[in-house]
Amino acid sequence: MASTVSSRPIPALYTVYILRSTMRHASLYIGSTPDPPRRLKQHNGVVKGGAARTARASLRPWEMVGLVSGFPGPVAALKFEWALTNPHLSLHIPAESRLSVARQTKKNGHPRRPPASMHSILANLHLLLRVPSFARWPLRLHVFVPEVHAAWNKWTSEAAAAAAAAVDAPEALLAEPVEVLTDFKPSVPDMYGADEAELGPAWGIHALPLDYGPMRDYVDKANDIFTFEREGDCAVCNTPLPAGQGLYAVCPNAGCEAVGHLRCWSGHLLESETHNHDNGHEHDHEHEHEHEHSHDLGDGPLVPKRGHCPDCGGPVIWGDMMKELTLRMRAPKEVEKIVKAKRRQEKAADKAAADADKAASKAAAAVAAEELPSSIEIVPSAAAKTTKTTKTTKTARATKPATTKTKAKAKEPEKATKITKTTRVTKAASATLSQTAKTAKTTTTAAVGDASAVLLDRAKSPEVIVL
Ligand SMILES: [Zn+2]
Ligand SMILES: [Zn+2]
Repeated sequence: MASTVSSRPIPALYTVYILRSTMRHASLYIGSTPDPPRRLKQHNGVVKGGAARTARASLRPWEMVGLVSGFPGPVAALKFEWALTNPHLSLHIPAESRLSVARQTKKNGHPRRPPASMHSILANLHLLLRVPSFARWPLRLHVFVPEVHAAWNKWTSEAAAAAAAAVDAPEALLAEPVEVLTDFKPSVPDMYGADEAELGPAWGIHALPLDYGPMRDYVDKANDIFTFEREGDCAVCNTPLPAGQGLYAVCPNAGCEAVGHLRCWSGHLLESETHNHDNGHEHDHEHEHEHEHSHDLGDGPLVPKRGHCPDCGGPVIWGDMMKELTLRMRAPKEVEKIVKAKRRQEKAADKAAADADKAASKAAAAVAAEELPSSIEIVPSAAAKTTKTTKTTKTARATKPATTKTKAKAKEPEKATKITKTTRVTKAASATLSQTAKTAKTTTTAAVGDASAVLLDRAKSPEVIVL
């Protein structure tokens, strides 16, 4: 079971979300998914598979007010989801910084989950994003509702003030700030009563990239390097990298082909992280202490979070690098699909450009020959005007001024050509998009299968998740 999960590549997206009833704001639900728009449809009963707790018609429709992204996989997301749903039990939250305390017990003697409010969820989220076991993942908080963002900011500043004032502040509260992204609904009046997903530009959960699309160039570059054996020397230790051996990671920055041993990259990034936190004294000791600390938590070797490439100096996020590496090592077919999609997109763009060139030269030739090309008819207003001119030309073909007029009007085809070009490009783009959507669907289904299997497992033995 566990081996099946770990042999998959890091998913393009995995989130833990906060769901709120638009009918009753106090009704909240926490879940995890690789596909928030589809999951929301399930909760709202548009497609099958919503949770029983969200099935009550009087509470629908639900909205996702925020979510956390950046989980390396379904198991990681489920751990976080569980800790956020059961803050009174989670071992990720040290007893002294526990904000939710169980005051009642169930019939079986287990502590009853305290009722969750938006305030308690945000407070626990604030804490969980900072505890060592979760802070090492590249987690980001996305907020889609202004009032929830305001509540988050209020809690964050209060917690910071409290931590600064306290003598024995929990270490977690003093850690680096969490990355927060907001994407609020645009204030466009809903004139048509259309589905918000289809109205205007995509926002919130509808604007999240669900597939590996944003990584396309990176995946393609890495694939090229290893296909043509351009590994070269390790960017960190400078020793040659024999082709087809070991785990090599590639710099994610465009144009940089820095390749290195996995351990070298990890060491390099960890070292720069230590220097960033260096206050100028005893940093060696602190570093050692950090290592011990992570072993105490049973998390294995300390995993870096971010840093810079030794070659190009560009930013490197460890999670992104691992996403590419796991795709390359565990899902060569997925890499093939991504590279093929990129080639198709490039080809379509080339063809559109070539077609536009052809049409433009045709139009130019037509103008030169003083003919009215047929393509002019696709622009109605231009066509109408031209018809008039044509009449004039017909009745007074030999007259000079009329010919000049025709020439001037014949310039219109250039515009028409331009319009055609745009349409072609859009068509090519949407073809690529639908292809990408298909790819995403396949990946998603697989990941969901995985997640539900883990859920079943969790139901049987909760200790699997609570480390
Ligand atoms: Zn090396
Ligand atoms: Zn680089």
